[in-house]
Amino acid sequence: MPLGTDAAGLLLTIDLGALADNWRRLASLSAPAECAAVVKADAYGIGIEAAVPALWRAGCRTFFVALPDEGRRVRVAAPEAAIYVLDGFVADWTPAFVEASLRPVLSTVASISAWADAAPGSPSAIQVDTGMNRLGLSAKEASDLAARPDLLSRIAPEILISHLAAADDERHPANAMQRERLIGIAGAFPDLPLSFANSAGIHLGRSFHFDQVRPGIALYGGEFSRQLPPLRPVATAEARILQIRSAGEGETVGYGAAHRLSRPARIAVLAAGYADGYHRRAGWSDERSGAKVFLRGRSAPLVGRVSMDLIAVDVTEIEDAAEGDWVELFGPNMPLDDVARAGDTIGYELLTQLSRRAGRRYRDAAGER
Ligand SMILES: *Cc1c(COP(=O)(O)O)cnc(C)c1O
Repeated sequence: MPLGTDAAGLLLTIDLGALADNWRRLASLSAPAECAAVVKADAYGIGIEAAVPALWRAGCRTFFVALPDEGRRVRVAAPEAAIYVLDGFVADWTPAFVEASLRPVLSTVASISAWADAAPGSPSAIQVDTGMNRLGLSAKEASDLAARPDLLSRIAPEILISHLAAADDERHPANAMQRERLIGIAGAFPDLPLSFANSAGIHLGRSFHFDQVRPGIALYGGEFSRQLPPLRPVATAEARILQIRSAGEGETVGYGAAHRLSRPARIAVLAAGYADGYHRRAGWSDERSGAKVFLRGRSAPLVGRVSMDLIAVDVTEIEDAAEGDWVELFGPNMPLDDVARAGDTIGYELLTQLSRRAGRRYRDAAGER
């Protein structure tokens, strides 16, 4: 279980009001298409148990997870929701699917037969591959399936889905190509609604919305497009200053003695590190610059490597910085994706790697709870 907030090193504050606002924004952009929510990987690290009820109250009725265990948790949080499992179905998963009324997103011929046998007539989705070469039936497999009404009635598909590979770049030619392929395949399933767009796909415009959209990262305030800004930040990560020390010009900071100070500096040591999910690559060395943090209205660079439990930052310019201060690692003043880029990764990875050691507190429109 996550730590209580008073004992935390890295403290996450989750703004459920911002999450609900982001969903409403995406839903109004996509209307009349239905706006589902992707809550795989513990709602991108935000926490299924808090995120799903907040999304449900905002009006979301359909949820996508990766795995059946995640689906079970969504079922508890939203007893009446439609819950789709993106990783599909294997026979071992039958009890979880049946008990929690989960719907598999079927992507292989074998999983289609397995679902038809395990739970005949129970709803599912069909996924087709339109160019990403990840999960999904080929066009040929899909047209063979369309010619088998007996089998279709046993898997009871409610929706036909496909996934975009490069929607974060609105100029990428793969977007239009994948869309054409989807429309081609969908012709064989005239009664099935279509679901295509992730967060970035929603912003490609109306012609990508079809009947349902499936945003993930945009709900949680991460960057989803090279051309557009993120929606409201949802997660704020903070850590306390444990110690402030002075170091002289020419001294080094941290493991490997990899970062040498070019002037005397005041160094603040924070109670968070890579064991909390803050990326080790976000540290600084003589060769490479890394991430910054935010405190007392200003930003300050990390110094040296990120340790397992500790981060050092240069607060020479922030004279009023004091031991005990809470410092923002990312959030409204220090964009999640800037910190992710400094660690050679993306906001998705930074959010989903936040470890169980982090303390969590949730705020909704009504305040803290
Ligand atoms: C993760 C995922 C999404 C959500 O993608 P975002 O980029 O986070 O909006 C949608 N559909 C599928 C199939 C996914 O795997």
